[in-house]
Amino acid sequence: MPETRTVPLDLVIFGGGAAGLWLLDEVRRRGHSAVLLEAHQLGSGQTIASQGIIHGGLKYTLSGLLTPSAQAIAEMPVIWRRCLGGEIEPNLSAVRLRSEYCYLWRSTSLSGMLAMAGARAGLRVTPEKISPAERPKALTACKGSVARLNEQVIEPASFLQVLADRNRDRLLKVDLESGLEFELDSENNVQFIRLINPQTGTPVDLQPRHVALCAGGGNEQLAISLRLTTIQTQRRPLHMVLVRGTVPELNGHCLDGTSTRVTITTSTDSSGRRVWQVGGQISEDGVDMTASDLIQHAQRELREILPGVDFATAQWSTYRVDRAEPATSSGIRPDDAVVHIRGNVFAAWPTKLALAPRLAERVLAECVAVHDTARADDVSAYFAKWPRPEVALPPWECQQQWTSADSDNPQSN
Ligand SMILES: Cc1cc2nc3c(=O)[nH]c(=O)nc-3n(C[C@H](O)[C@H](O)[C@H](O)COP(=O)(O)OP(=O)(O)OC[C@H]3O[C@@H](n4cnc5c(N)ncnc54)[C@H](O)[C@@H]3O)c2cc1C
Repeated sequence: MPETRTVPLDLVIFGGGAAGLWLLDEVRRRGHSAVLLEAHQLGSGQTIASQGIIHGGLKYTLSGLLTPSAQAIAEMPVIWRRCLGGEIEPNLSAVRLRSEYCYLWRSTSLSGMLAMAGARAGLRVTPEKISPAERPKALTACKGSVARLNEQVIEPASFLQVLADRNRDRLLKVDLESGLEFELDSENNVQFIRLINPQTGTPVDLQPRHVALCAGGGNEQLAISLRLTTIQTQRRPLHMVLVRGTVPELNGHCLDGTSTRVTITTSTDSSGRRVWQVGGQISEDGVDMTASDLIQHAQRELREILPGVDFATAQWSTYRVDRAEPATSSGIRPDDAVVHIRGNVFAAWPTKLALAPRLAERVLAECVAVHDTARADDVSAYFAKWPRPEVALPPWECQQQWTSADSDNPQSN
């Protein structure tokens, strides 16, 4: 049996989605020693499946009120824009942008609603009405007015890759079944995390001052393993639609009263085809539908709200994904990024990709309050031979069944 080494660390992070990777990057830049443990692929779960919109809160002000959600998220587009522009750390200038803007449209006039939303609410990012000549091709035939919103849209896979590349030496792939054990003290503080290198079989004991659970849907099981009985979680399911082929580029929201009827973001698949991810109300309504019913519903919806777009050669698919959050009494999304502290464990949920910087700030505020002496050991040397997790594949690369617009016959890739 190889000798077990003990590695003291300031922070051990579980989960390498937006939350865990942003936190790891931030923690290291402040001189703390940290590693991130990933059980699957980086971002598998929510981040890789997300639409990548760096929300500024407009969506939460459609009722005309500055809701707590809108207040919390208002500063995020400014922080992200500076990171994506390489002005501040983390330098995300290598992240692929899907778009610099989102568009807002509806079939009737936007002006009344826009005057109320955003501007009156005092958001940092407010919609600006654009002339017909400035419209993207997909919206040229829409009857109502169109506005542009200064919300950037990122490519989630590229974002995960950039943060992973910056921190590769601290990312450890772990085997939850046979390569991970916890040792807790009488107050359920984590004393040791025993890992077994999945490639070499070598054991190592991590001795963390703090542990951050950033595992999205995986936080539920981790909380059970750590006997954190007061950490309650909730999942809110979505059934998203994918459209690929000769669709025009479009990133934006079609609004209907105070709700987002449809949100569309555009990417490109590995064969160079354009792909739309279609979410918003359609993906909530689709939860109880079969894939084929949802596709038919989406076809009707998209033809109605995008009269100028030709879907004749488009192919359609769907994917299901859960949003993972701390439980709320109403079952709706918490207003802000959430950190629950239990002993030396932080259970953390950004609740929005856009809120990842705010979540990291919150966790770090607690770390610094408890201790401010970094253990500057050369942690990387201990883990030089450890297998690293890869970034997850986007949903459209995992779908086998695609349906053409004019038939219900599924086609395979
Ligand atoms: C369809 C969809 C669209 C969205 N669109 C947007 C958007 O446009 N803008 C926005 O701001 N937000 C959006 N969101 C919300 C956003 O995606 C999430 O809030 C955010 O990505 C959550 O990040 P996370 O790191 O907490 O979790 P995840 O991205 O779920 O990452 C969790 C990580 O933990 C790993 N893991 C799981 N269990 C364990 C374990 N036991 N040990 C170690 N690792 C583990 C997983 O493999 C994964 O890598 C969207 C969400 C969905 C579902």
